[in-house]
Amino acid sequence: MRSRNPRSRRSPSRSRVATVAANARKPEPEAIAATAGHPAATPRAVHALGAADLLELWERAEGRDRAEQALLVLASATGGDPRDFAEVSIPRRDALLFATRRLAFGDELRAIVGCPDCGERLEFTTLASALAPPEPLPDAAVQFAVGDAQVRIRPPTTADLLAVRDSPNVPAARDALLTRCIVSLTRDGTPTSAASLDGAELAALAGQASNHPAFADIQLELNCAACGAIWQSAFDVASFLWDELAAFAARLLPEVHTIARAYGWSEREILALSPGRRARYLDLIEAGA
Ligand SMILES: [Zn+2]
Repeated sequence: MRSRNPRSRRSPSRSRVATVAANARKPEPEAIAATAGHPAATPRAVHALGAADLLELWERAEGRDRAEQALLVLASATGGDPRDFAEVSIPRRDALLFATRRLAFGDELRAIVGCPDCGERLEFTTLASALAPPEPLPDAAVQFAVGDAQVRIRPPTTADLLAVRDSPNVPAARDALLTRCIVSLTRDGTPTSAASLDGAELAALAGQASNHPAFADIQLELNCAACGAIWQSAFDVASFLWDELAAFAARLLPEVHTIARAYGWSEREILALSPGRRARYLDLIEAGA
């Protein structure tokens, strides 16, 4: 699917289902604090990014890995350092990204998807607040039983995603990610190493984790207006927000160019205009006034 093109992230699982029709209201996402895993991290709330901030962010983060881009977005939205967010759990990171997105582009979220059955190009609209991770955020460690092992795992962080990004394939990345996130492992009551889990046990652990909100990807339930097909599509807010930011920059730069050429104003002055006023000036320029 596109917002242009959210990708599934490498988390151990996939199955938080949020139907497109969902419109349950969540608590104000702006209030979500960025604490979690990092003992030194101070809670921070995101603030609204203006056109100049967004453009600067886009320039700084363009071409970087999606996980790194998410860190740069959060640093920009909080006035913090990207490293402050590397150890924040993915559910908490995503809640902050949703809050950032809502402040920058509003709560309504539009995307283009292709029907997997008939190929029809479809647009859907939903609310970002209906997709954001539920409160309280599911970012604590969770215990699972796998054979004779009791495994306690914490949700992955961006640092974990970055650490496994060079894995040779998706199953290897999944296994490496799960292993990194194991907090404790006991067999018959005896503590043992996370490395003692074999492939089948890791697969079983991944399967169980996929049903827990702390580890699940957000899934959109979509149906095709043309042929009636119903399917699920993974929604990665980090990718979605980045694609929106890139599209925003691609629209904004020609606007700045046109206004600067017509009036001789600086980029800074033009970016400081509200979107509505920029649009009015563009109309005037186009009308040859
Ligand atoms: Zn279809």
